[in-house]
Amino acid sequence: MNPYDFIHKKKSGNANSPESIKKFVAAYMNDTLAAYQMSAWLMAVCFNGLSDDELFAYTEALIESGSRFDLSAIEGVKVDKHSTGGVGDKVSLVLAPLVAACGTPVPMISGRGLGHTGGTLDKLAAIPGFRTNLTANEFKQFLEKTGLAMMGQSSDLCPADGKIYALRDVTATVESIPLIAASISAKKIAEGTNGLVLDTKLGNGAFMTNQKQAEKLARTIISITKKFNLKTTAVLSNMNQPLGEKIGNSLEIQEAIDCLKGQGPNDLRKLVLKLAKEMLLLAGWENQDKAYAKAKETLDSGNALDKFRQMIQTQGGEAAVVENLSLLPQASYKIPVKLSGGIPKGFLNGIDTYRIGMLAVELGAGRKTTDDVIDTAVGFEIFKKIGDTLRQGETLAIVHANNKSKGLVIAEELLQCFSIGTEDREPLPLIIKTIY
Ligand code: URA
Repeated sequence: MNPYDFIHKKKSGNANSPESIKKFVAAYMNDTLAAYQMSAWLMAVCFNGLSDDELFAYTEALIESGSRFDLSAIEGVKVDKHSTGGVGDKVSLVLAPLVAACGTPVPMISGRGLGHTGGTLDKLAAIPGFRTNLTANEFKQFLEKTGLAMMGQSSDLCPADGKIYALRDVTATVESIPLIAASISAKKIAEGTNGLVLDTKLGNGAFMTNQKQAEKLARTIISITKKFNLKTTAVLSNMNQPLGEKIGNSLEIQEAIDCLKGQGPNDLRKLVLKLAKEMLLLAGWENQDKAYAKAKETLDSGNALDKFRQMIQTQGGEAAVVENLSLLPQASYKIPVKLSGGIPKGFLNGIDTYRIGMLAVELGAGRKTTDDVIDTAVGFEIFKKIGDTLRQGETLAIVHANNKSKGLVIAEELLQCFSIGTEDREPLPLIIKTIY
């Protein structure tokens, strides 16, 4: 495999052979292929896509870069959830303990933030002491003991996805259906889950901005995972505005804990319960209403919160954060973003969710280079949803910053992310479609 010819072939719109794809990925892993060559191929894939054979070979290459976990010794149908990425998406933090507390084991391999979207691993890093760099054995032990375990890619599991994911994050090569589909499918196949619910985000804060693309991504993942005997249900959910009210790692842990306590924003709770129902159906529950009722009762009874606390303890974290949110990282400055001037009364007609995600990165909640260190304390609270009435002087948002002057500049830019009109607008539907 000659890297130049290989990249040139994709750039010209032709397909590479499955063998050469595997060699290309392997070369990147053993450092005989440079990051700029991998980036060039990734960019060519963004423009020209992958054929079915290429996609399958690329997914296999990601899986074969590590080992596949064998979870057969753990009783029950194991079910995981993965999101295609959004802004304010802290669903996994509530959903995994909830479903585990319903009696279904949840093995969860999560990712770091990617582009303008946040990642569950970065959020968990806000919990003092919490370990996500587990060995395969620890992952299995914890899953058996607690009913759930959360970790990131490691040298054991899809390390090629970890290395390529970090590169995509900083080379604007995230928005590609085959690259996203292979990245997600490989991790899920390798972790050994039996079922997967895919939260496919669509809208201006997602990688897929319209329904056609989102459905294509969902169907691509359903078809890859099927080839590996992994059953996937896809839920299409709205990402034309942030999910919940909080964006940023520590802030999102706080909101997830609120939701586990039966509080917190409605949209988060609604999406969590829908996804929990679909996970329980994959685990063998036959009746939709009963599965939903079980999830709701488990959330409201505090059993899901207990499970979350247990997971934190098992993975070495400070479980007291559940009772005392002030133990989580806090930013030094809280800067209100107020609606001033212009219309005395209006409606929130649109939110530039992508821009909000990028501003969160700018503030330090995400990475601009692979080596950037995240500031887990910073982020935004956003109090309004599309369709809400707005009044002059109202606080739309709060910027949590550790650098005051940067926070003030970002607060000004954040205000520009809201479009305000005089015409009333329908609230957005949260759940758009379910594909079985
Ligand atoms: N989530 C992943 O795991 N990979 C992607 O490429 C995008 C979202």
